Amino acid sequence: MVSRARFIRALQQQSRSRALAGAALPRATIAAASASNMARCFATSQSRLIAPSPAHGVAKLTSETYPELRRDEKFTQLTEEHVAYFRELLGGESAIIDGVSKDAADDILMFNEDWMHKYRGQARLVVKPKSTEEVSKVLKYCNDNMLAVVPQGGNTGLVGGSVPVFDEVVISMARMNQIESFDEVSGSLVLGAGCVLEVADQYLAERGYIFPLDLGAKGSCHVGGNVATNAGGLRLLRYGSLHGSVLGMEAVLPDGTIMNDLCTLRKNNTGYDLKQLFIGAEGTIGIITKLCIQCPQRSPAVNVAFLGLESYEKAQQAFREAKGQLSEILSAFELMDGLSQELVHRAKGESMPLDGTFPFYCLIETSGSNSEHDYEKLEKFLEDVMGKEVVADGVVAQDATQIKSLWAWRESVPEVSAHWGGVYKYDVSIPLADMYSIVPDVNDRLEKAGLLGDSDEFPVLGCVGYGHMGDSNLHLNVVVRRYDKAVERVLEPYVYEWIERRKGSISAEHGLGLAKKNYIQYSRNDTMIGLMKQIKQLYDPVSNNLLPPFLHVSVSSSALHHTPDTYFLLSRVLVHIRRLWDARLMEGLFITVKKLTWPLLARLEWDNEPIQVPVSPAGASKAKKARLPGCGKRSGRPKAAETASCKPTHMAEH
Ligand SMILES: Cc1cc2nc3c(=O)[nH]c(=O)nc-3n(C[C@H](O)[C@H](O)[C@H](O)COP(=O)(O)OP(=O)(O)OC[C@H]3O[C@@H](n4cnc5c(N)ncnc54)[C@H](O)[C@@H]3O)c2cc1C
Repeated sequence: MVSRARFIRALQQQSRSRALAGAALPRATIAAASASNMARCFATSQSRLIAPSPAHGVAKLTSETYPELRRDEKFTQLTEEHVAYFRELLGGESAIIDGVSKDAADDILMFNEDWMHKYRGQARLVVKPKSTEEVSKVLKYCNDNMLAVVPQGGNTGLVGGSVPVFDEVVISMARMNQIESFDEVSGSLVLGAGCVLEVADQYLAERGYIFPLDLGAKGSCHVGGNVATNAGGLRLLRYGSLHGSVLGMEAVLPDGTIMNDLCTLRKNNTGYDLKQLFIGAEGTIGIITKLCIQCPQRSPAVNVAFLGLESYEKAQQAFREAKGQLSEILSAFELMDGLSQELVHRAKGESMPLDGTFPFYCLIETSGSNSEHDYEKLEKFLEDVMGKEVVADGVVAQDATQIKSLWAWRESVPEVSAHWGGVYKYDVSIPLADMYSIVPDVNDRLEKAGLLGDSDEFPVLGCVGYGHMGDSNLHLNVVVRRYDKAVERVLEPYVYEWIERRKGSISAEHGLGLAKKNYIQYSRNDTMIGLMKQIKQLYDPVSNNLLPPFLHVSVSSSALHHTPDTYFLLSRVLVHIRRLWDARLMEGLFITVKKLTWPLLARLEWDNEPIQVPVSPAGASKAKKARLPGCGKRSGRPKAAETASCKPTHMAEH
């Protein structure tokens, strides 16, 4: 690699081993080149990535970290009889991990604990169906027997949605990993939801194609998990979101019904496009079992440049120039701040790509079909931005190994952020002009709260910002020495309020999971939340919340989150008042109480607090009437029918 003074000269060297392969290269070379490019991710093909922090023990139980979460007692406790059913259905011991009839805590731990070591559930059974029919039978049985479940892919999710909270049955999709067919003319790939992303991409590389999604966890995450979270990743700038790439889908609904929409065509405008609902639904309305993905042709010529910049404004200018000058060959534009790169340097002990240090770094990737043409374009662009002093220093990868090495500086950030003991992750979309300013703001706030410092007495080490600048998607990572409620209270809901004020999104690509389920109202209005609840109710009507029962959509008052304990106690009192009301024992008193507490009661219902099934016939008919569409607007007081209509009738107790 070359740096600063030698940079432009190096760019001009015609002898450079140009990118990876030219368009005219024989097919085998293209595949090999593509495969080496693909190997740039730090992810491995091990079954699971573990954040390799020496500071980590086993995560605290989620139910201890969040004592306000309650197991809903309507769900049955697992028995040996249930386990025997699954064992027989799925064909023996290898298809289940049974912690009910024996101690299997160690084997189940990796299914109970998330990648960040932040959440840990108490599942005692993992089932591993191998076919759609088996998934269907598993779900039907769970539905009939009121067993709560959590679907799990590669368990690389970053919002606590992939692991149980209590004793939910984990349905691992790992054995549904077959590639079923690939059309080499159209590029449509049909595969099982449990296929590891990297495996699918390797398969495509051998055929000159590429999976339209790439992310640091590709060696572990499943394509089903990717679609369930609507993962964005490093190629979104080029290939768009999975909403466009998923051509067809097969999924199983909570009652075991198989929805087969495994269309392999790009165009299919026959009625509602139901599969779209499952993309990003995080397993709340069904389990994705198979997918058909539209895969683009793999670009044979790839270049990567790594740039140092003096300010975020310059990073924005560089992005603008890159879009203008590199246009159709620009395939990634990633941003990393100085601290993120310093942490990678400290954790890995490798020298940094540039001689000096900078407040910001950008990684630019181009992918095209004509090596000469692409290189010339990149060269011109780099000369231009360096000449204008938009970019202070930079290096260009000279071969596939250097491409891999430069990408590692970007892709290692999530991993090293968790290296010191833990990380609070906020994956957010913010209009570009403001995107980075959340990082210093949060840093200041943590400092003022006395939580950030250099020694062990401070829980917070620092705040880093990096992400997919090309998609206005920032990852704000608060790097901590240990998870600490005091830190969480300073961060939440502050971060979400900050984002709401800038009309951003509190979840750009990781989903809601358990981490953000109470904050959805910062990015979605009440009407939309109401519609989401109706969809959940429609797809999961019998047990209502069989599929991840503790992750369903809910809203809560941001103000009350400042004092969660008071809120919790208050809500308990109000729940009892509401129960008595349902039993018609307090009708008179309720009129007065309602006047005084109406805003809280309304909010309470929206919070999915445990509003009981009516105990009297009068209450029962009232509950029936309450199932109506059309929720109220956020501002203003909701009408009685509106609030009732927005709450599913049998919500989980938490
Ligand atoms: C190092 C690292 C880098 C990452 N980089 C990115 C990135 O750039 N962009 C990005 O978007 N994410 C990123 N992630 C987050 C994560 O990899 C993605 O969210 C990924 O899509 C999760 O896939 P998974 O198979 O691991 O799913 P899991 O973590 O197992 O599950 C995620 C959610 O999907 C549900 N689910 C899983 N499989 C199914 C199924 N078949 N049907 C229905 N529901 C299902 C689960 O219940 C859970 O709610 C990164 C994670 C790590 C560790």
